[in-house]
Amino acid sequence: MTAEILKIVNLNKSFGRVRAASDVNLTLYEGVLTSIIGPNGAGKSTLINMLSGSIPPDTGRIYFQGADITRMPVHRRVKMGLCRSFQLVNIFPEMTVAENLLLPALAIRNLTRRMLRAIHKETAVHAEVAQILERIGLENEAHTVASALSHGDQRVLEVGVALAARPKLLFLDEPTAGMNPVERVRILENVRRLSANKETTFVIVEHDMDIVFSLSERVIVLHHGEVIGDGTTEAVKNDPRVREVYLGQEVAA
Ligand code: ADP
Ligand code: MG
Repeated sequence: MTAEILKIVNLNKSFGRVRAASDVNLTLYEGVLTSIIGPNGAGKSTLINMLSGSIPPDTGRIYFQGADITRMPVHRRVKMGLCRSFQLVNIFPEMTVAENLLLPALAIRNLTRRMLRAIHKETAVHAEVAQILERIGLENEAHTVASALSHGDQRVLEVGVALAARPKLLFLDEPTAGMNPVERVRILENVRRLSANKETTFVIVEHDMDIVFSLSERVIVLHHGEVIGDGTTEAVKNDPRVREVYLGQEVAA
């Protein structure tokens, strides 16, 4: 068993009468590629929003590497290494691919004020941008304006932008949304490869079950804001409650 990276204790969040998180208790471990699944409205995005800091829980606590971050603002979590990418495309379309990666790479070094001066002298930053470009397979698109990329490559770039902040833990909320099957496989192979070097722990929300079960080391199933299944892909596939409320015939077939 690897070290704990995030611990969630009795987390609750309601929107009016909707319980989006209902007594969620989970511990995530370093380097374990984990998927969160569940039907639409299960509370997946709400959970990630609370963990990354964009919405506060009603009650409960969140610990990142042992530190209580329940009320910590997003930017401080990012500095600590807890990052997320969004369900919607979140890049600067008029900037090039390399420029999109340069911004977070500068920010993490507190160098954004140098923007108008000697960025070109920051060789370490440029080396890192080049390394990320290679890791995400966009090394030939460095000087392409982001809006000219295919939709799939824009999503790949988003993952790169998140990686440039050097996350220890990275949440990807439906990174394959709107992608065609070829692009999906590509981004998920990327995640698998990036996860294997263990610098970043990935937690991914994905609705394609084939992808989830082939990719993940651990699967967490949410339904009406509750964790109803959690374990290896085999365990979750065979869990009667998961099959009943969520997977149904899909898994039986
Ligand atoms: P998922 O990501 O699993 O599809 P969400 O976390 O987006 O689910 O939503 C969980 C539930 O909370 C849904 O019923 C949704 O309508 C509700 N919800 C989410 N965000 C809000 C919000 N800002 N205001 C009101 N209801 C919300
Ligand atoms: Mg969602």
